[in-house]
This record gives sequence, C-alpha cells and structure tokens, in this order.
Amino acid sequence: MPELPDLVHVEDVLRKAIVGKTITGARTGDPTVLRIMVAEPFPALLVGRRIETVERRGHFMRFGLAGELVLVINAMLVGRYKLLPREPEAPNSGKTKSAKAKSARQDPRALGLALELEDGPELQYLDEKRMGKVYVARAADEAKIPVYGAMGVDLMSPAFTRAAFGKAFARRRDQVRAFLMDKQALASIGNAYADEILFAAHLHPKTFCRKIDPAGVDALYQSIGRVLAQAIAEIRARDQPVEIKVRDFLKVRGRDGKPCLVCGTTIRSVRVGAGDACFCPICQPETRKLFVNWSQLGDRKA
Ligand SMILES: [Zn+2]
Repeated sequence: MPELPDLVHVEDVLRKAIVGKTITGARTGDPTVLRIMVAEPFPALLVGRRIETVERRGHFMRFGLAGELVLVINAMLVGRYKLLPREPEAPNSGKTKSAKAKSARQDPRALGLALELEDGPELQYLDEKRMGKVYVARAADEAKIPVYGAMGVDLMSPAFTRAAFGKAFARRRDQVRAFLMDKQALASIGNAYADEILFAAHLHPKTFCRKIDPAGVDALYQSIGRVLAQAIAEIRARDQPVEIKVRDFLKVRGRDGKPCLVCGTTIRSVRVGAGDACFCPICQPETRKLFVNWSQLGDRKA
C-alpha cells in the first residue's frame, strides 16, 4: 500500500493541485469500491461540490468537500493516486481523448474513482486489486468509517509522544511487527516501514513485545520517528508523480537475498503473522543475549 511517507508526499501534491477546485464530474470503473454512506446517488452527490481540504490521516486520504461532506479513501495493498493533466482544447475533437484512451487500456475496473475538476486536472484513484475503498459520508458521520474511525495515534501528530507510545505498547502480548502494524495502536505503519523501523531498532521481527526492555522500547520509538522522517525527506526530494512509489532507498524491505548495507550478511525473509518480513539476522538477532551495541543506533532524537 502507499504508506505514510508516500501519502505525505501525495497529500502535498494533491493539496496544491486540487484544493479550491469544483468537481464537475465523477465516475467509477467498479461501483463495489464505493461505500456511499449518504442518501444521494453517485455521482450526483459529488458534482458541483468544491474540494476544500486534502488531508492524510493515518493511511487514509481525506478530502473535505463543500456542504459538510467527506470523501475518504483507504488505498489498501496496491491503490494509488494519479493526476491527469487537463487536456488542451484541440480543434480536432477526435484527438482530445488521448490520455483517457491510454488509461482505458488498463482493466477499466481498476478505476476506483475519477474526479473531473473545473479548471484543473482529473484526479484518479486506481486499484488493480480492487481491495481499497472509497467512502463518502457526512462529516458528522466520518467516525463510522471502518478502521478510519478507530485508528490509534497518528505518527506525525504532536500526540505521538514517548508517553503515548509507551501506553500503546504496554501489555502487548503479540510480536513487535504485528504491534507496529496494528492500526488501532499506531496510525499507520505498513509492511515496508515496519521492516525498516525494526532494522533501525535492531529488533528481530518475531520478538515478542513483552521481551523488549525499556531501552529497546526507547529505541523502537526513536526509530519510528527517524525512519519516517528520513523517508519523507527522501520522497519529497525525489518529487515523483503521485502514482510512483519511491522505495529504492529502503535498507531491508525488498532486499532479501542481497547483502545487508551495515554488516554484509544476506538479508532474509520470514513469515510473521499474515505477512513476510525482511530482516538482517546479524543486525536483528533473534535472541536477546546478542542484542547489544545500542551505540550503533547513532543520533538519537528526543
Ligand atoms: Zn546486518
């Protein structure tokens, strides 16, 4: 899925491109992706409304629309956003559909939602697996949106303090990677950044939370902030179109079989819960007695 650092970039780009624009049309290639929580029919309920805000919340993107309506998207595994530039008015009207014709070559059902905007680009939400969801709700009802309404502390918010993290971590009985990916505890970490954070914290992905000592909890907390901040800086610097997921700078995710960038040991992949984790068996030892040398963590931020 697009993860938090990806979505911070998407949020920046979409905010500049579409806030203040009025929706002139909306369509979908698969109505089952839509979750309309209001009485009006699609697309009429969106047409004529101005986009007032674009805001990432956890792993969701929230579009505030005029008239106290919100459009909230959960991109799940492969969903992505795309901005199609407004096509110039060509004298030969037969040539004006090129971009749309091009995007239509993919499975038309992959178009979760397209919003046509007055004097602006077309915003598309694309999802080949059609696992994501597009919710439309009254702002007063948005807490009823599944998962979205029950998320834990947002990792980019001032509320994500060491104390708040300690509270979320306390009494956890599961493995640390499952904890990191629990959206009701932390909003939000996916597979890629769970691996990167555990590598930075020198924690094996299968470590049980109750086995992690206070210094380890500190390291985990600091690693979350540091890994996400570095990823956001990298993705912003690359400034790719929103549909491109920039991941080539990651240290362990997607690098199984390749040498660890720190120690040279082959990065391994292991099944943890419902997903696969990539980790370095030397930098992230399974047993606690090997669990040493915190000084290698480098600069710790408060
Ligand atoms: Zn290593």
